[in-house]
Amino acid sequence: IVLIEGVEKTFGDNHVLKNVSLTVRQGEVVVICGRSGSGKSTLLRCIDHLETIDGGTIRAAGHLMGMREKNGKRVPLKDSEVAKQQRDLGMVFQSFNLFPHISVIDNITLGPVRIQKRPKSEARDEARALLARVGLPDKENAYPRQLSGGQQQRVAIARALAMKPKVMLFDEPTSALDPEMISEVLDVMVDLSRQGMTMIVVTHEMGFARAAADRVILMHDGSIVEEADPETFFTAPKSEHTRLFLSKIL
Ligand code: ATP
Ligand code: MG
Repeated sequence: IVLIEGVEKTFGDNHVLKNVSLTVRQGEVVVICGRSGSGKSTLLRCIDHLETIDGGTIRAAGHLMGMREKNGKRVPLKDSEVAKQQRDLGMVFQSFNLFPHISVIDNITLGPVRIQKRPKSEARDEARALLARVGLPDKENAYPRQLSGGQQQRVAIARALAMKPKVMLFDEPTSALDPEMISEVLDVMVDLSRQGMTMIVVTHEMGFARAAADRVILMHDGSIVEEADPETFFTAPKSEHTRLFLSKIL
């Protein structure tokens, strides 16, 4: 469902992704870790085509991201067509990025109503079901500033889910949260994985990796240097970089 092949990305003379290849199948959860600057966020942003790539291909949710194939040639898509592809991918960031001036339920229904043109009442019913699913059944009329960080992040997850994505991408969703709020967000993510969502998660929360990941990946200096099931990753990593990384975070 996500096929990344030989992806290259440079910013100026900074070679940030170097021949990155990764396959994520339907229902799989892949955790990406690695030290600051190793290219994790850039990779997620490339998958969602928030960044263009300089080489390789990314297929996600049935789309060749950012491109159209025409007579065997690849042509870049118009922004509006890229936006259509992006609807099948849900993204959750470190900073929740909710719209501050509208209520929780309006944050969640905005995309379905404005972009997907779904009936408002139907979108609101679904938003309420999603709020229940993330453990916030009584917050639909609250404004983001009235919520804790953990609650805001759960609303952000509900908002992404409202678009019925085929893949969810998470970029350090708990790293801006106070420690006591981390688990409420991770619990929602574990639930989501159990319900079969395909997920790519950048996180250093190794408890989540152990509980939910099918595979854990270590990025180092723009390359994937380790790819293993969680048990192997934590107990018998092959790469020296992984051993060093684990010694610092565990
Ligand atoms: P962190 O753990 O700190 O979030 P990361 O692994 O997510 O790090 P990236 O944000 O992907 O790392 O950054 C990888 C490299 O790309 C860094 O050297 C960064 O400075 C550079 N970079 C990222 N975004 C841009 C940009 N928009 N313009 C120029 N350079 C960028
Ligand atoms: Mg990052």
